[in-house]
Amino acid sequence: MKALTELVLASHNAGKLKELQAMLGGTVRLRSVGEFSQVEPEETGLSFVENAILKARNAARVSGLPALADDSGLAVDALGGSPGIYSARYAGGAGDAANNAKLLEALRDVPDEERGAQFVCALALVRHADDPLPILCEGLWHGRILHAPRGAQGFGYDPLFWVPETDCASAELPTEEKNRLSHRARAMALLKARLETA
Ligand code: IMP
Repeated sequence: MKALTELVLASHNAGKLKELQAMLGGTVRLRSVGEFSQVEPEETGLSFVENAILKARNAARVSGLPALADDSGLAVDALGGSPGIYSARYAGGAGDAANNAKLLEALRDVPDEERGAQFVCALALVRHADDPLPILCEGLWHGRILHAPRGAQGFGYDPLFWVPETDCASAELPTEEKNRLSHRARAMALLKARLETA
């Protein structure tokens, strides 16, 4: 495969671009899909990977360049993987605090040993919009859902996600440490290795 020097990231979020660029290193430059289009595709997939692929295809289509997309969320074992791909809007779009309250309520009577969960990040890279062979990398970060929020760092479900290897909530971790351990870090490390050997 021809070495990639530039990728369009299928996200309008400047923070996410910065985080993923830092994880990817300097050899590949990420550009925002916002440079090419403000229209976001409908996420009609039923899995993280399907949604990542359709976002990557859309970014490649509007930019004419190779594109990378990520789709992430929280999958809770006792809830059959929910909120899953609906993580951002679990409480109907009412925001992080409402999502967390809904999750705590759903797990109210669930004992510690059944509160396993994982943050999931699916990455899809397509060389062009109709690429039949996307590069797919998935990162999982295993933990457990706490009974009450802890910590003030991070975003989303971080205050409820207990990280076994650090013995604290994800929202109690300094950003650099979370970015070393997280689902996104794991998926990006796999992608980096794939690109280096491609
Ligand atoms: P996105 O795909 O990065 O927009 O994430 C979708 C949703 O999953 C977010 O709105 C959060 O609710 C949740 N999520 C994804 N990654 C994280 C994380 O690292 N910490 C906490 N919540 C996350």
